[in-house]
Amino acid sequence: MEKITKRAKELLVGGVNSPVRSFNYVGTDPFFAKKAKGSRIYDEKDKAYIDYVLSFGANILGHAHCEVIKEAQNAIRAGVSYGVTTRHEVELAEGINKAIRGMEKIRFVNSGTEAVMGAVRLARGYTGRDKIIKFKDSYHGHADYFLVKSGSGLATLGIPFSKGVPREFIKHTLLAEYGNKDSVDRIFAKHGKKIAAIIVEPAGGNYGVIPPDRDFLKHIRKLSKKNGALLISDEIITGFRFSYGTLTNTLGIKPDLYCLGKIIGGGFPIGAYGGSKKIMKELSPEGQVYQASTFGGNPVVMRSGIATLKTLLKNISNYKKLTDKVRGLTNVLKEEAKNNGHNLEVAEYGSMFSLKFDKQKDFQKFYKRLLSNGVFLAPSEYEANFISFAHTQSDIQKTQNAISKAMRFKRSN
Ligand SMILES: *Cc1c(COP(=O)(O)O)cnc(C)c1O
Repeated sequence: MEKITKRAKELLVGGVNSPVRSFNYVGTDPFFAKKAKGSRIYDEKDKAYIDYVLSFGANILGHAHCEVIKEAQNAIRAGVSYGVTTRHEVELAEGINKAIRGMEKIRFVNSGTEAVMGAVRLARGYTGRDKIIKFKDSYHGHADYFLVKSGSGLATLGIPFSKGVPREFIKHTLLAEYGNKDSVDRIFAKHGKKIAAIIVEPAGGNYGVIPPDRDFLKHIRKLSKKNGALLISDEIITGFRFSYGTLTNTLGIKPDLYCLGKIIGGGFPIGAYGGSKKIMKELSPEGQVYQASTFGGNPVVMRSGIATLKTLLKNISNYKKLTDKVRGLTNVLKEEAKNNGHNLEVAEYGSMFSLKFDKQKDFQKFYKRLLSNGVFLAPSEYEANFISFAHTQSDIQKTQNAISKAMRFKRSN
């Protein structure tokens, strides 16, 4: 084992600061990132990998995009944090407000987890109700009451719940099944007026990729409205991923609250939630639902986010190219799996995709071979893979070749 790996395992739990990064699922030690630029990430030995993790989708422009770096550098030179509001917070809010229907007021926080916690607290405060409906296998960050069948992180470890969460903390979390109208109808029939909100990932990105079900989303929009519950769309992955705005809006749906994160910070830590003035005015300091933050709206993050949105706005017509490039990869994945007698399921939606072999061992083999051929995929079959605007046709070709090579192994029995 390398010295740095050994030292990491001694000093950091599992050698990491977030579980999936340990590569436990793929049965190997992770590489250490040294730098990244565009579609490439480099390890400590300067080996380059074409990157489909992209900081779990955050870097949609590719790593270290010049406009984002320029703004971040300008921001840093002006001091990194103030504890007073800057015009950049207003400017990023303005950009988001223009891109998303009914996003009248916004609150910036430091992570997706915080955004969801804020939105749920607000929904409870606004409705005066306690219960929330979440969907099995969806992920909404690591707040206690969400660590129930919560997708990739726990699924990768093969456990349904987290220890350390008192039962009382999850008793208001009701589980339904995405795409199954009955499962939601039944909960409303039983708990009707006690439900504060339904929270949904409009397209699943944390239990493999699950394409959106428009009809189902419309159903829960109607049902929540009818019962006086709020619909919270967790667009922490999907926001600005498939178009310049949210997926629910693209599908013709207007939730009550949106949660954003990942992309809108340009690769810096961020979260945001928001919705109508009527709901948002319940939040402190206007209202009595409390939420505060030392670093919320940090100027370096805000300015990087602004640069990201500006660049995305210029690239609006190129979103389709991302989808085409992903299709180029998934077609080869399916073809080569077939050619080599593997049992592989490929799921995709827009610019994200995921794979699932029938045996974890086969995924491990494929994964390690691909990695040594210079392609970095998410180290779990439950995580989504992403593509960026920096990925060129030549990157796709190289990845396709690497896939063809990596797929040539004997299926385990
Ligand atoms: C990543 C993610 C979160 C949590 O965001 P963090 O910044 O990791 O706290 C919440 N919901 C969804 C859908 C996510 O993909």
